[in-house]
Amino acid sequence: MTAAGRFAPSPSGDLHVGNLRTALLAWLFARSSGRDFRIRMEDLDRVKAGATQRQLADLAALGLDWSLPVVAQSDRLATYRATVDRLAAAGETFECFCTRREVLDAPSAPHAPPGAYPGTCRDLTEAERVERRRDRPAAIRLRAAVTGFTVHDQLHGGYTGDVDDFVLLRGDGTPAYNLAVVVDDAAFDIDQVVRGDDLLSSAPRQAYLAQRLGHAVPEYAHVPMVLNDKGIRLSKRDGAITLAQLAELGYDAPRVVSMMATSLGMAAPDEPVTARELLRRFDPEALPRTPWTFVAPAA
Ligand code: GLU
Repeated sequence: MTAAGRFAPSPSGDLHVGNLRTALLAWLFARSSGRDFRIRMEDLDRVKAGATQRQLADLAALGLDWSLPVVAQSDRLATYRATVDRLAAAGETFECFCTRREVLDAPSAPHAPPGAYPGTCRDLTEAERVERRRDRPAAIRLRAAVTGFTVHDQLHGGYTGDVDDFVLLRGDGTPAYNLAVVVDDAAFDIDQVVRGDDLLSSAPRQAYLAQRLGHAVPEYAHVPMVLNDKGIRLSKRDGAITLAQLAELGYDAPRVVSMMATSLGMAAPDEPVTARELLRRFDPEALPRTPWTFVAPAA
């Protein structure tokens, strides 16, 4: 497989201009560096019927293209479990019986970053584990050997973040986001991760896990978010923010591409421009480093 970049939406509804702008950027980063581009549906949590097809149609309407197949995480549960089994067999995980509340209430371990898992279940004896298993099913946590890890990000430079004994499999057996991302990025030769900068703080854990699994750590570019006029991340309440909603107000997909390009400093206001034309103009170094405030047009 060729090295690739990716976009990994959660199919929980329609994509909004924040998601679409991140997708456009991920595509530009990948294609301008000669990479493949892949799409992965992160459907382990909230899924809305039909959302996958609508999201793909919207991405195509922007002029983006990608390699097939589109991967769905729900088809890969056996792979995530096998990865955790492999780590468990090597003694690199432990069973954790703590509730969220117990983790929050426990005094933090010495030298651990604030909010880090306090180590409550790290060293339980087998007898203690047998006892606890009667109360509730265990989550599986990684036995972290560090408290922090540094990644390199194309827009943020060196970024060091906390790493603790984070969850790999939840008590109900669902793979945790951090596990699924790392397993999938490695499995599909993703060596470039472009996504919203709300996920920058997840990158050190993911990079550390990749390294523990013997995978190369991808390049990162965490791009600025899109905010509403109150400075808050876009949400459904913010009016016309999806392609379908904008189209109803007369803003078709090409016009949305042009608005996004303007917001990225890659087109003059109202200049018509296609995704393909943007490829020639794309310069990661020149990207804005601050959020874009998107005020939805009134109906
Ligand atoms: N599925 C995540 C989201 O929609 C993105 C995960 C990632 O890009 O690593 O926010």
